[in-house]
Amino acid sequence: MLPILFIVIICVLLIGYSAGKPYWREHQRNKLRKRPFKKEWRKVIQQRMPYFKQMPTDLQLQLKQHIQVFLAEKEFVGCNGVTITDEIRVTVAAQACLLLLNRKTDYYPKLTTILVYPKAFVKSQQTTNAAGLQYTQDVVLAGESWEIGKVVLSWQDTVKGALIPDDGHNVVIHEFAHQLDQEDGKANGAPILGKRQNYSCWSEAFSEQFALLQKQASRGINSLFDHYGATNPAEFFAVASEVFFEQSKPLSQQFPDLYTQLKKFYHVDPMHWS
Ligand SMILES: [Zn+2]
Repeated sequence: MLPILFIVIICVLLIGYSAGKPYWREHQRNKLRKRPFKKEWRKVIQQRMPYFKQMPTDLQLQLKQHIQVFLAEKEFVGCNGVTITDEIRVTVAAQACLLLLNRKTDYYPKLTTILVYPKAFVKSQQTTNAAGLQYTQDVVLAGESWEIGKVVLSWQDTVKGALIPDDGHNVVIHEFAHQLDQEDGKANGAPILGKRQNYSCWSEAFSEQFALLQKQASRGINSLFDHYGATNPAEFFAVASEVFFEQSKPLSQQFPDLYTQLKKFYHVDPMHWS
């Protein structure tokens, strides 16, 4: 009798813990959001991220609140001699949290750790050639997003991406767009969009422009999008996200359907930021 009672109590406690966990986490996050934003962190944003000044004040405040939660929940690890400082943490967090504005967010739930390298790093990658043969080659990367647990960033490229707010290149936006894409499994160019009909509108707008970019890339024709976006639909979504935040006007003029989809997904309209 006693063991059964014991098992029942344990089960009740476990169920209570699982049911209460999200509420407890939200309570903790609310407390973090209400904390005064450190002066030194504000300074880092002002110096490292000129983009911040262009944002409406309500979004600036929201971004700072997200940064507080992000920094409390994610671990940063320096690689190849990098010492993690608040400058690194805040510069990364500020750009990563741009993608979370005006939405209900769980702060990249699969991500635990951000690895920071001093500059672009080399990685061995398995590639398949046109004949279907697999081979290993070394590739130089500015960033990488793992499906579970990690984002890897080059600090040199992170700084450059933040300092030049209008060139359509931002490694942090790129890798964290992959994180959003990976929330429902493998990155495939379609993050969680809600209703089924949202997926068909998304697919229509994205596949047309992805096919165009592939054509342009194969013929060496310039595009608003980096040709790297032609690699696969997941890369196209990440590249399009960089352009959405950094070159919103030309994007909305040249690819209005794509702009509309991204505006709907990111819940912001950077074209109207000053
Ligand atoms: Zn990528």
